[in-house]
Amino acid sequence: MGNGKEFQGKWAVVTGGSRGIGHAIALDLAKNGANVSIVYLEHHGDADTTLKQLNALNIEAEKYQTDVSDHQRVQETFSTIIKNHGAIEILVNCAGINRDKSMSKLPLDLWQQVIDTNLTGAYNCIKATWDHMKEKQYGRVISISSIVGQAGNFGQVNYAASKSGLLGMTKSLALEGARNGITVNAICPGFINTDMVRGMPDDVLEKVIQRIPVGRLGTPEEVARAVSFLASPQSGFITGQVINVNGGQYM
Ligand code: NAD
Repeated sequence: MGNGKEFQGKWAVVTGGSRGIGHAIALDLAKNGANVSIVYLEHHGDADTTLKQLNALNIEAEKYQTDVSDHQRVQETFSTIIKNHGAIEILVNCAGINRDKSMSKLPLDLWQQVIDTNLTGAYNCIKATWDHMKEKQYGRVISISSIVGQAGNFGQVNYAASKSGLLGMTKSLALEGARNGITVNAICPGFINTDMVRGMPDDVLEKVIQRIPVGRLGTPEEVARAVSFLASPQSGFITGQVINVNGGQYM
């Protein structure tokens, strides 16, 4: 990353930026000079801590409690960011949830919640940024999908559908943005050491780790590195791509 200020003067929005992978993404962008707005839903304490850490990096940072599945609220939040700061150059769709049940036990509302947050949430955020990026003839859109969107996973029909959906959306949007200086890419993390994964029963987690060739969970920082790579102004010829950060678990 050269002099460490690759993103100087750029404004980034990271959804799900309060904790876990989104937290690490926000910090990595900021360490390299980006100003950052984080968007989150719950756990105000985590958002406060992240904001403090961002501010300590001598960049501009702010937080918004906005449900990404709420189209109107997302429009308002993103309009405010664009009005106050003049631009959003980098959008990272990282907000996500899982509500795991096998198909026989999966009610419509848990299907819908996951689709609304993980897939429609990304649509809402891109919709609120896209014409602005087109006008500026510059943009970097990166969505955090999952290995589960590629390979499937028992008990994650809703989650897998939302994450596969992000991949199709990414490739189609890459075509639409290509002549406008906008790149659109996705990252598929494998199993990363965050609260989402720590919530799994110990014996299940142990079995998961046994299937990872690298022999351990990934770290949020390892995902963040891939995001910063794609977010770079120098990555303009990389679009419509999916980068796997999974310790070799799916190739
Ligand atoms: P996490 O639960 O630690 O953090 C989730 C973040 O999303 C939080 O900031 C939360 O406030 C935010 N969020 C949730 N619902 C929201 C909503 N409706 N509106 C706005 N913000 C909302 O999760 P994590 O493990 O850091 O995962 C981050 C992303 O990475 C998710 O999209 C997840 O699906 C994906 N992912 C995680 C793993 C993993 O192993 N942890 C693997 C592959 C993909």
